[in-house]
Amino acid sequence: MKIRTGDNVKVIAGREKGKTGKVMQSFPKEGKVVVEHLNTRTRHLKARQNSKGQRVEFSAPIAVANVMFVCPKCSAPTRTGKATLADGKKVRVCKKCKEQLA
Ligand SMILES: [Zn+2]
Repeated sequence: MKIRTGDNVKVIAGREKGKTGKVMQSFPKEGKVVVEHLNTRTRHLKARQNSKGQRVEFSAPIAVANVMFVCPKCSAPTRTGKATLADGKKVRVCKKCKEQLA
């Protein structure tokens, strides 16, 4: 998967189209990511003896195919590529500005 936890992404399809956010969690097996404050759902908790009923907002995972990586260097939605450094190390790079990514 080309998107990792901590990356900034832009949503390109679906309910949150056009919005950007930070990846909080990634699920490579399902091909999904959780983006902070996006695709929120409300969980309604029933009152129990020691707590009141409440509504809890949380972000549901969205398909990684519907988001694009946003480069921190050139701040454009791009794709990531791989590059090999002179010392043989593999790094992620921005396809647009060729900058190395953490
Ligand atoms: Zn870039």
